[in-house]
Amino acid sequence: MAKASQQRREAQRARARRALKRLEEGEGGLCIDCLEPIAKSRLEVDPSAERCIACAEAQEQG
Ligand SMILES: [Zn+2]
Repeated sequence: MAKASQQRREAQRARARRALKRLEEGEGGLCIDCLEPIAKSRLEVDPSAERCIACAEAQEQG
């Protein structure tokens, strides 16, 4: 159980690192699924967001 939550934290950190890297490379704010720009308001809430709102919702439902 503890291991599962640790893995989740690791995944979140990796996600945040990738997001920061993309920002540094000037690719920040593009959805990894549809490559559309992610709304700024969404990035302000979750700077590590990798998907636009539509794709994130599809992901959650899937
Ligand atoms: Zn998308």
